[in-house]
This record gives sequence, C-alpha cells and structure tokens, in this order.
Amino acid sequence: MKPKLKLNPDTHGHFGIYGGQFVPETLMKALRELEETYRRVRRDKKFKSDLSHYLTTYAGRPTPLYEAENLSKHFRRNFRIFIKREDLLHTGAHKINNTIAQALLTRYLGKKRIVAETGAGQHGVASATAARLFNLSCDVYMGAEDIERQALNVYKMKLLGARVIPVYSGSKTLKDATNEAIRDWVTNVETTHYLLGSVVGPHPYPMMVRDFQSVIGRETKQQMRKLTGSLPDVVMACVGGGSNSMGMFYEFLKDFSVRLIGVEAGGEGLNTHRHAATMAKGFVGVLHGMKSLLLQDANGQVQIAHSISAGLDYPSVGPEHAYLKMAGRVDYEACTDKEAVQGFHLLTKLEGIMPAMEPSHVFGYLIRNAKKLPRGSNIVICLSGRGDKDLDIIRKYESHVK
Ligand SMILES: *Cc1c(COP(=O)(O)O)cnc(C)c1O
Repeated sequence: MKPKLKLNPDTHGHFGIYGGQFVPETLMKALRELEETYRRVRRDKKFKSDLSHYLTTYAGRPTPLYEAENLSKHFRRNFRIFIKREDLLHTGAHKINNTIAQALLTRYLGKKRIVAETGAGQHGVASATAARLFNLSCDVYMGAEDIERQALNVYKMKLLGARVIPVYSGSKTLKDATNEAIRDWVTNVETTHYLLGSVVGPHPYPMMVRDFQSVIGRETKQQMRKLTGSLPDVVMACVGGGSNSMGMFYEFLKDFSVRLIGVEAGGEGLNTHRHAATMAKGFVGVLHGMKSLLLQDANGQVQIAHSISAGLDYPSVGPEHAYLKMAGRVDYEACTDKEAVQGFHLLTKLEGIMPAMEPSHVFGYLIRNAKKLPRGSNIVICLSGRGDKDLDIIRKYESHVK
C-alpha cells in the first residue's frame, strides 16, 4: 500500500528522506528565527492583507486563466487547454510572487538588507524590484560567466539600485553564486535576509517559497471551477528549482483525480551529459543546504547542468519534488532544447503569446505526447513567464541549427 501523502515537511524540514538543514552551525539560529517569524506572519492579518495588497496593486494578481482555443483545436483530441498567465505579472514571470513576499517578510524580521543569488538574472531583477518597493538594500551574487551572458538583466539590476557581485569560483554560474550568497548571509546574518529564489535550500525555504507561490494554484482552482465547473484532468508546469510548479501543484496534491506532470529540461538529450534532467538522471546528494536529487559525476561531484533556458539550468531540484516523485504523486518528464523551441513557436503562432523558454518546455512536451493524454482532457498549463528575455537565444539557436 502507498504511504499517505504528506503535505508538509516534518519539524526538521524533511519531505520523506529529502530536505533538511545541511548548513554550518552559525546559520542554524538564522534559520530558526526565519521559520518562527514565517510561521507567525503567515497567520498574521496585517501581513496577509499587506501581501495581498502588493500582489494585487503592484504585481498584477490575480492573473487570468485563458482558454487557448486555437491550441486546443490544433491537437484534434477534444482537449480544452487553459493557460495560467503568470507571464503577465510585473517583471514578466512568477518570481515576483516570492520576492515581494520575502521582501515584506524582511521588514518583519527587522532587517534592512537582502542578498540573493541569480543565474540568468531573472530572480536578481525580481529581488532588486521588491527591494525598491520596500526600501531595502540589495546585493545580488551572479557568476562571472552569467554576467557576460546576461548583460541586459545586469543593467536592469543596476538601474534598480542593486549591487551585482561577480563570482569567479567554480563554473562561475548559478551554483557558485548560491554558495557565495549563503557565505554572505553567514557573515551578515544580523542585518541581512537571504532571499532565495526557488523551493530549494535548507528548511524552511522549500516550504516557505512553495507557500508564497501557491497563490498560482489557488487562483487556478477557483478559475477552473468558474470556467468548467470542475477540476482539471491534467495540470502541467516546467521544473527548474521547482517553484512555479510547486506553486501550481500544491493546491491539487490531494485531488487524486488530477494528474500532475512536471517537465524538466532534457537539453541535448538524456543520454548526453548536456541536460538538466535531475528527476530522470539525478542521485541523492546534498547541495545548498538540502538533501535532494542531484546531477553528479562518478565521483559524486556536481555535474554542470545544461539547458537552452537559463531558468531550468540547475543541477538539483526542490526536495518536495523529489518526495512527490518517490510518492508517485507527480510524473516528471523531460523535453529537449529542440522540442522546447518548437513549443515556443507553436504557442506564438497559434495564440499570439510568446512564452519564456522555461514554460516552452511544457508546450514542447505536449507536441510529442498529446496522444498519450486521454481525449477530451481539460488541461491546465502554467505559463511561468514571457519570452522577450529569450528572443536572442532562440534566434542564435536557430541560426546554428539550420
Ligand atoms: C526562473 C524561472 C523558472 C524556473 O524556476 P522554478 O523555480 O522551477 O519555477 C521557470 N520559468 C520562468 C519564466 C523563470 O523565470
């Protein structure tokens, strides 16, 4: 018999065998303080109304759930496909849900400074934006390699008054930037909140970021009820660290009739080393303060992840996803770079909506696998962000492929 599905971690932050707090002693106090404050504010009327105020008036919630009729017809299977438009939020993606909430929390912690890590710069820009909203100083760690590749986001962060600190260690990318952000936090924990960008890291981050993103699923459930009078049959989202997908799935976890599918980055293929398919190819390991699945080489060293989409390019995944895979509640599938680019074009041509490369993976997956889903399914797809940031990458990719 299947063990009962747990919706929350235990008191030490374990989702099954995953999660936990693998941090230096000096950080334990800060994590405890963060957890206590978080548990207090999430029931606090003032915090809840403030958060809802900024999500509504500043970020643009609720986001529409749009029935994509052209896309639905395209598959000739009597699907009804509904798209959750997180791409319409301020700064263009779901990340702002979390950064506004944590920046507000920073005030409740009595702190004046945030540090954040960023890969492509999306979380850095969302953090710098929320820092302006709440008058916090903001330092963003970013790999030197990524700074080269993401000049526009670096410029945006600077315009927003954030300091972008280059990281020269390791592969000079997100993994190393995260290490440096944690190091900064250890040193400045009295004054500084670490604004982590996904459902990863030590407890309570995976739980807290999930809760802050779960507004996506709550709205979707209500909107589906209005539009169809029932629950969807299938809910899909892309998985990098796993925050937009956890935010979408969480509300549906106990609705066992709803099939949940997470799509991760298959890069150049699962039988190459150039992918970010942690669920398919990862092993249990510890990184950034959590136990989770992790892409590793034969010596257990972290393998460099690859994806055409910078947001999915992370060698691990949130511990709750690893748990939900083990529990058999969520199916995890992969979509290659090439299929994701096809997915991008499909949505653009049929609906006039340009998706970011991350959620393009869901559409790419659907192109190949529509036949596996029952005819007449009602399908919800989380469109986590808009594509403007990726147009250069797509153009370059296509000039190479041809
Ligand atoms: C960062 C990002 C992602 C990946 O992060 P998750 O934590 O897995 O959601 C997905 N989509 C967009 C648009 C992003 O910016």
